[in-house]
Formats: sequence, C-alpha cells, structure tokens
Amino acid sequence: MTDPRTFAIVGAGLAGAKAAEALRVEGFDGRIVLLGTESHRPYERPPLSKGYLLGNADRDSAYVHPAEWYPEHRVELRVDTTVTEIDRRAHELVIGDGDRLAYDKLLLTTGATPRRLPVPGADLDGVYYLRDFGDSDRLKAAFRSGAAVVIVGAGWIGLETAAAARTAGAEVTVLETAELPLLRVLGREMATVFADLHRDHGVDLRFEVGVSAIQPTSDNPSSAGSVLLADGTEIAADAIVVGIGVTPNVELARSCGLNVDDGILVDSHLVSSDDDILAAGDVANAYHPLLCRQIRVEHWANALHQPEVAARTMLGEPASYDRLPYFFTDQYDLGMEYTGYTDPDGQEELVVRGDTAAREFIAFWLKDGRVTAAMNVNIWDVTEPIRDLIRSGAQVEASRLADPDVPLSGLSPSS
Ligand code: NAP
Repeated sequence: MTDPRTFAIVGAGLAGAKAAEALRVEGFDGRIVLLGTESHRPYERPPLSKGYLLGNADRDSAYVHPAEWYPEHRVELRVDTTVTEIDRRAHELVIGDGDRLAYDKLLLTTGATPRRLPVPGADLDGVYYLRDFGDSDRLKAAFRSGAAVVIVGAGWIGLETAAAARTAGAEVTVLETAELPLLRVLGREMATVFADLHRDHGVDLRFEVGVSAIQPTSDNPSSAGSVLLADGTEIAADAIVVGIGVTPNVELARSCGLNVDDGILVDSHLVSSDDDILAAGDVANAYHPLLCRQIRVEHWANALHQPEVAARTMLGEPASYDRLPYFFTDQYDLGMEYTGYTDPDGQEELVVRGDTAAREFIAFWLKDGRVTAAMNVNIWDVTEPIRDLIRSGAQVEASRLADPDVPLSGLSPSS
C-alpha cells in the first residue's frame, strides 16, 4: 500500500530538491510537494558567481535535476508559488491567495536574501545584487570591457564577481568596511593572500571605507552613476554590485511561532521546535554534535548534504548532521577548498604548509594543538585526510603539519 502521508518542502532550491530526492531514495512512496517562489526548477547557486557568470557554463549544468525527473519521481514541483502561512494546528500550508495544502511533515528550505545596502540611491538602476539566474545574467551583461564596476563588500560574492568583472576586462574597485577581505573568516594572514591576489589582477581595493550614497547620473535620475563614500570621495560607476551578506528567510517560521535565532533553530536531526517541521540549508541554525554548538552555514555543501538527514528524520530513521562545514572558491587562477570551523572569537594558531607567495599551500588553524579548520589553495585531493585529521581531534606538532614531506594521512592518530 502506498504511504498515505504528504511531505511538503517549502523552498525549491538545492536543499529542497535534494530533500525530495533523498525521500525517494530512502523509499518514501507517499506524496511529495515541493514549492518555490522562483520560476525555475531548482538549481545550484555556485555557478552564478563563477562559471555561469564567466560564460563557461550554461544554465542546464546548474539545474539540480532534469525537468522530467520531477514527474518521473512523482515530485509535485510548484514554481512561482509563495507560501504565506503555516497553520501548525491544522497541519496546513496557506498558499498565495488562500489555497491550503495539508502536510504530515514539513521541511523548510527557504534560504536567504541578500542584505540591501542601507543608503540613499541603493535601488537605482545599475545597482545589482546576486542571488538568482536573472541577477547573474544582468551582471554578465554589465561586465563589459572598459566598464567601471564598483563592488561593495569584499566577501565571497564581492571577490568572485570582482574576478569575473576583471576577466571580462572591466575596471574594478572593491569597497569594504573591514581592514581586509574575508577577515572574519580567514584572519589577517590568509585575508592578505586574497587581497594580494586581487591587487595583482588590477583590482583597486579600498578598505575601511563606508558608502554613504549611490548617486544618479547627471542625465538620468533613475540610473546609478557614482558611489559616494563617507569621506566625500566620489567613484564613478557604470555598474555597482552589492555583496554585503545575506539574511535567512525566517518569516514563515517566525510567524507560526517556531524558535528562531539567526535562522530556524533545529537540533542535530534538523527538527525545529515543532516535531513535524524541519529545516535545512542556509536557513537552518542547527546543533552540530561534533562542534557542540548551534551553527548556520551559508554554503553549497550544507544545502547539498543536510537534506539527506532531514529526509531520514522525516521517515523516522535515526540520523543526525555532523559533517564538517566545507566550501570552495575559484578566483582567476586560484582554486581553494576550506574544511572545518573556527570560532570567530577564538584564538587559533595558524600553520602553513607550502608557499603562500606562489599561492600553492595548505593553511591549518589549530586550537590547543588540534586542527579545527584547513584551507587548501591550488593543492587538490586533500579534503579527506584533512577531514579525518580534524575529526580525530588529535594533537599535532606544528613542525610536522608544516612539513610537506609528512603525508597528511600520517598525522591522524591511527597512523
Ligand atoms: P559575506 O561573505 O558575508 O561577505 C559580506 C562582506 O561585506 C563582508 O566582508 C562584510 O564585512 C562586508 N560588508 C558588510 N556591510 C558592508 C558595507 N555596508 N559596506 C562594505 N562592506 C560591507 O556575504 P556575500 O559575499 O554577500 O555572500 C552572500 C552569501 O553567499 C554568503 O552566505 C556566502 O557564504 C555565500 N556565497 C558563498 C560562496 C562560496 O562559498 N564560494 C560564493 C558566493 C556566495 P563584515 O564581515 O565586517 O561584516
């Protein structure tokens, strides 16, 4: 007999699509409804600031599944659909103009929204944010040879779009409030590697600056023409990209009374304060059993892997999410992977194996002699031993860690 239950998934991005897939892989044959506000079927976002933006990858390669996968797996995909309310008592979703959908289990994969720049002129034409296919298309068109591109924020979006704009031949200025790019994530020494990379590629990097307004062009009051800094400096711009972080989309969860604090609070099984509602991906602030703390991870790998745990939990199987955070970036000829987690307020020691000037190295962050995170730059196939090393919690000598002749796999305790 077919399972009579309905599992609803709100948010049709990577996490939502992977959850539907995982439910079928785990053998659930009941009804799956996947609802999303975008017009497209689920797609992955990393290409939007990398290969797709650079023109090296097409749309088809970004989709999570081919169009026919959804009907073939009896996944009811409803695009252009906004869920406006969760009626927990009735176990129903309210959709758009009042339709209702009954659910037995509900997974929220509602993602995050780019933070708007809080200054006058931030909504003028020519000010771009990057989250969806359309945004990436608009940026691609704006990144013309010789165009003046000003990027606000030297985080992942800022640096990846700076690389794409330079590659397209634009003149690029990056504005950042902090002293260095990615400072909070990487610390001073590694942040400097990224600053040098962009300077070497001709980017004008300006740190510790504040934007006070976006000003229109003299001939068109609705079109952005320059960026005004707090110190009065004016920078002419044909295009302005804003990448100053994201805010998790918690409105539905908050308004139905779920516990929310920088994301939807869930346990290690990804269950929220309501046993029948789970959350995964950018929006989930999940208890991590290895790190012994709540963390919210805004990266692709999390949206890729958390759904399997969510699906198994929805089916009543034992599962908890304890993967280490992982992300990657590609900028010019630098490729990097980062594994692990460092406490933003922690006092980690940094040990480097390899040559930072040549941009071919592994950086390790250590706390009490134990590796908590590592970043491999232009060195590949090391994620697995790095992950083992972090998970082992073993104390390692800094000199062995720094020595390229000591195999990484030899640093874990079992070796
Ligand atoms: P982000 O990585 O959090 O970086 C935002 C940067 O903007 C930070 O350096 C921040 O400084 C700075 N900033 C904040 N307010 C500013 C202001 N008013 N003026 C100038 N700078 C300001 O966020 P993002 O680059 O916008 O990326 C959005 C999301 O997409 C993130 O979740 C990111 O992880 C994800 N993403 C990931 C990748 C990847 O994994 N390769 C690629 C693209 C996007 P403070 O830190 O001092 O606030």
